Amino acid sequence: MRVAVAAPLLGTFDYWPPLAPCGTDAVPPRAGWVPGVRVLVPFGRSRRVGVLLELATTTEQDPTSLKHIERVLDPQPLLAAVDLVLIRWAADYYCQPLGEALFTALPVRLRRPRALDLEQERGVAATAAGRVLDLAELRRAPKQRALLTVIRAAGSGIGRAELTRQLGSCQPALRHLRARGLIEDCSIVPGVPAAATGVRAAPADAGPDLNPHQVEVVNQVTQAFGQFRSFLLEGVTGSGKTEVYIRLIQAAAARGEQTLLIVPEIGLTPQLRQQLAARLPFAPAVLHSGISDGERERTWHQVAAGRSEILLGTRSAIFTPLPRLGLILVDEEHDTSLKQQDGFRYSARDVAVRRAQLVGCPVVLGSATPALETLHNAQLGRYGWLRLPVRAGAAAPPRIALLDIRNQPLQAGLSGVLRESMRGEIASGNQVLLFLNRRGYAPVLTCHACGWVGECLHCDARLTLHLARRRLWCHHCGWFQPLPRACPSCGDADLRMLGQGTERLDDELRALFPATAIARLDRDTTRRQGELARLLEAVRRGEVQILLGTQMLAKGHDFPRVTLVGILDLDQSLYASDFRAPERTAQLIVQVTGRAGRAERPGRVVLQTRHPEHPLLQSLLRDGYAGFAAAALAERQEAELPPFSHLALLRAEAPMPEVPMAFLMSARTHAEVLREPDVHLWGPIPAPMERRAARYRAQLLVQSPRRGPLRRLLAGWTRALHALPRPRGLRWSLDIDPQDM
Ligand code: ADP
Ligand code: ZN
Ligand code: ZN
Repeated sequence: MRVAVAAPLLGTFDYWPPLAPCGTDAVPPRAGWVPGVRVLVPFGRSRRVGVLLELATTTEQDPTSLKHIERVLDPQPLLAAVDLVLIRWAADYYCQPLGEALFTALPVRLRRPRALDLEQERGVAATAAGRVLDLAELRRAPKQRALLTVIRAAGSGIGRAELTRQLGSCQPALRHLRARGLIEDCSIVPGVPAAATGVRAAPADAGPDLNPHQVEVVNQVTQAFGQFRSFLLEGVTGSGKTEVYIRLIQAAAARGEQTLLIVPEIGLTPQLRQQLAARLPFAPAVLHSGISDGERERTWHQVAAGRSEILLGTRSAIFTPLPRLGLILVDEEHDTSLKQQDGFRYSARDVAVRRAQLVGCPVVLGSATPALETLHNAQLGRYGWLRLPVRAGAAAPPRIALLDIRNQPLQAGLSGVLRESMRGEIASGNQVLLFLNRRGYAPVLTCHACGWVGECLHCDARLTLHLARRRLWCHHCGWFQPLPRACPSCGDADLRMLGQGTERLDDELRALFPATAIARLDRDTTRRQGELARLLEAVRRGEVQILLGTQMLAKGHDFPRVTLVGILDLDQSLYASDFRAPERTAQLIVQVTGRAGRAERPGRVVLQTRHPEHPLLQSLLRDGYAGFAAAALAERQEAELPPFSHLALLRAEAPMPEVPMAFLMSARTHAEVLREPDVHLWGPIPAPMERRAARYRAQLLVQSPRRGPLRRLLAGWTRALHALPRPRGLRWSLDIDPQDM
């Protein structure tokens, strides 16, 4: 039997079937040997959990050396055949060990060699019909209605004992509900608290009438139901994408199909979840990093059993089994957090497209600022191109103005023009949003006498001053030191703060606008649980006049009362070394801009810069994101960068600087031996920040204009890399389609 073992090793491993347990008469049931079940296997001198992949009849290993599977852990497969195919594809495409990929797809608790004991408690769950039934139909059977309400609220099923405890004896009512096909028997995962993902009464709000653009989008996608088709949904912020998602989810549910909705971050966007909950007759099952392992496992089983119409999740949810999957939605598809940056490095967006293809269903990639790769696919006709060009309802798009701040006196980092505009808006009872993408008080602390600068002990980076917490803090590794009173180098007391972060802006604004309510939204002010929601709510209620913050402001929140947006300092990112920096900057500007002036209040955007002539800013201003994207794609083509070529990045790091370079040099030699035409090797070179968290980092870039030769090279190279000697302390990783470099 062929098994993928939870270990960072390439390849699969062969075992004999399990032996009958000693001392018992039970022969292990052959019926349980189904691909997709977990097994416990002897592995080296230890035991590991693995997933059974195939019942192979031949082996390339020496049959006499094969060991027996110790135990089959699950009574039925956790992963269906199509899920196994997807994960195998992903492991292969991203050059990762299959075991790692598989156990990324499974809830963390299933990595332990604990048998799933699904049969321990018997319970009931609502059927598809029971989940969508209008409870009013049961008004003449109050007991059944009460039961169904409780059962639906329990989502993945509720035990008989618990039902009796809540409602008293209820056998006849249960029999009736079962006879009407509204509930069914199920087993309950014991010891896991119920997740609050049930179904409530039908929602009151039917939503607005769709505008013609929205109608067209919904029609296009619903016509593709039941077959594979990818779509780019390019909709300006506020154009009603969420409304379109809701209608599509309803349409899929009406066909009896599940929807998978992937979002970059759930913690930052409580609004979406609330909107879905308010508008759909079934509560979404939710999977993200902020929930407990127990709840995650329970939710996972619930959707895997087909008992939820929609799964809302962050990137790792893309691998969750959904037996009735009929639609995949990826919101904010340009967002970099859809790409996992450590361990099993994959892009949830790209896996989503592959999954839709395997399942045979439509996939919709939505964004106001699509990734250049996605736009390119739409331009080539590989993806259907759906547009929502205007804001929904009455909202007018905001106007952007560049403000040249060369030779301008700044107060609190604000030019006179911006300060005056702010006063005007605040006086008229409107809100102002200020965007500054740097947290802390000041990015540099320096000694005026000797020129000493606060630097991290472990990184090639400066320490950021956090004044309220009296710390110098490294934003790259988390190391900090107490704020020195005098220069650590020469003892002089004249320490000066250079530059401005959100904490300083906050302080200085309070001096400049003393009678104004000001709120700051960044990682420092939202560290405490619930604080972000509280801040957003205060802004929504109009209790705040000036809202300032970092890129957290750009993440999907609506600020309908904001009429003026000030973008304070993006000049640095205009000249960053990463070839994707212009794209990210343009996306950030457009996203922040789109937060303003919804509904009846028009918005204005003022962008302060010392480089008003910069071509990126000019193209963005003149022709919007589409104009920028056209210019940027032309540049990428010229430079043979993605999407006009394909990249893989081999990174290595170690406590000594020579070690990663030597490793990459020998990796390069192995790549050269494989001699794929059209594949170019660049490097190795030190990483942009060579030393980070006390480790020296270097990288080797592999580039090819065509995917085929690159894939062929990677197949052989990955094996070679795993066979290379690994000096002490060396870590390496291969990143396919890298997002930051
Ligand atoms: P997006 O996700 O594209 O940024 P949303 O779906 O959040 O946009 O919609 C923006 C606002 O417009 C929301 O307040 C939403 O309720 C409203 N809206 C959406 N569609 C319509 C419509 N057809 N008519 C009126 N208002 C709409
Ligand atoms: Zn000094
Ligand atoms: Zn550091």
